[in-house]
Amino acid sequence: NPVFLLSATDAAHFPTESKTHGRPEVAFLGRSNVGKSSLINALLGSKEARVSSTPGRTRAINFFALHEGSGGKQKTVPSIIFADLPGYGYAKISKSISAEWPQFIEPYLGERETLALCVCLVDTNIPPQASDGLLINYLQQTQRPFVVVGTKADRLSKNVLAKNLAALKEEHGVEEILPVSSKTSAGIPALWQRIQAVAE
Ligand code: GDP
Repeated sequence: NPVFLLSATDAAHFPTESKTHGRPEVAFLGRSNVGKSSLINALLGSKEARVSSTPGRTRAINFFALHEGSGGKQKTVPSIIFADLPGYGYAKISKSISAEWPQFIEPYLGERETLALCVCLVDTNIPPQASDGLLINYLQQTQRPFVVVGTKADRLSKNVLAKNLAALKEEHGVEEILPVSSKTSAGIPALWQRIQAVAE
């Protein structure tokens, strides 16, 4: 069951070991509207800790602790931490956000010691985006483990999805993109497997 830990707008407020127990952290990154909140909610499968897109929380990194077990049997030490990063590249708010990427979130990606996996979301319904390319490039350079996830796969026919995934892989220089749908839950178990692999 996910427990909301805190919202941080700068590195001084990232949760420390007293809250995370040093457990591995999985970060979720993507452009605004890519389907990040929907995906996290689909992974958590819980209505209690629903990730909200309310203003105020959207410019911050929101941390959640996931615990094994349920009810009275729930373990006190979390198994894994989720970090929901602010959406980027939303031109209506500011053209400079995408230009500033990844500096905007660099204190987190660069220095977070417990960060075990970055989940990079790209929309399978639109052409490859330069801001996504910047992030993926940055992660490749810093050698942070990451997995690229293609969202909203349910909206496309099998053929168009395959074609779009191939174009995204080619443009971003990655070997694998996991197609997912928060609507149908397709691909969610496969993504969970990747997440759980870092929690062991
Ligand atoms: P965020 O800004 O990245 O957190 O994106 P949201 O999760 O709020 O989703 C943005 C929009 O895309 C909403 O209208 C969602 O209903 C829609 N959406 C998100 N995920 C999916 C999906 O898997 N399938 C479909 N068809 N729509 C989705």
